[in-house]
Amino acid sequence: MKEKNDCKIVQDLLPNYIDKLTSKETNAYIEEHINGCKECKKILDDMQKDIQLQEKKLEKKKVKYIKKYNHKLRVLKTTLLSIILVLVVLFIAFPGRNIVIIKSLEDKFEVYEQQSDNVYIKVLEYDDSNLQLTYENYYKDNMIKYVLTNLEADIKVTQYVYPNESKEFIEEPEGKRLITESRENNIELPPLMNYFYNDSFIGTFFMSMDYKITTSDVNGKDCYVFSRTYAKPGTKIDIYIEKDTGLVLQSAQIGQTEGDIALTQYEYSFGTVTDEDMQEPDVTEFTLVEDNQ
Ligand SMILES: [Zn+2]
Repeated sequence: MKEKNDCKIVQDLLPNYIDKLTSKETNAYIEEHINGCKECKKILDDMQKDIQLQEKKLEKKKVKYIKKYNHKLRVLKTTLLSIILVLVVLFIAFPGRNIVIIKSLEDKFEVYEQQSDNVYIKVLEYDDSNLQLTYENYYKDNMIKYVLTNLEADIKVTQYVYPNESKEFIEEPEGKRLITESRENNIELPPLMNYFYNDSFIGTFFMSMDYKITTSDVNGKDCYVFSRTYAKPGTKIDIYIEKDTGLVLQSAQIGQTEGDIALTQYEYSFGTVTDEDMQEPDVTEFTLVEDNQ
């Protein structure tokens, strides 16, 4: 009976013994008993096996979870990489190419912009391929001469703009008139078509998104064509920019109906405007009609 009692005590202590919660003295007592008691030894072995099994299961679960997690992470990584790759390809294919083109044109244009203190610009306006108007702009020595020729109406207006005065020589079928006006004039640099060019990368970036860029030519000069379609149905504008110079050579506004094209062409000559070009015509041929002095 005494032994049976010992077994009961030992078996009660076994869980704590396995968890190493028992004291040295208790351990010695348990171990001594176990060595002499097959029944209790078997119970201890079973308990230890059970615990090992549970630990193994837990470990397996953990491994499984980690594997699952790693797999998810890999999928996420692959997905992210794919998205980035697609974006990069799209960027290269679309705005990237445009940005490179715009940047190269900006660099070329800059050279001309710096020469704009002596420049001749001729603007030709066509309507259904008929030349309607020409504007000639001469810039030299802080002075401007504009020549407007309306071919249909047979009118020519030549305007001289000085810092303190402007003169308008009008030649029309009814006669020749001269209008003078005394005023402060802000002699601005010529309207080189530079609205394609931006000071900031952001500007260039958005610009690159707005236009489709193809290639063509104007009078044999290789050009990039910047095309933009506007919300108004069927309206489109094509701007032709010379590859070699970055200068706008032509703009075409294409309307809704076929053949409805307003064409404007630009010609440039840098550093060629002479004093002779800036000379006023013989005033005696003109009637002075207005003088605000
Ligand atoms: Zn026992």
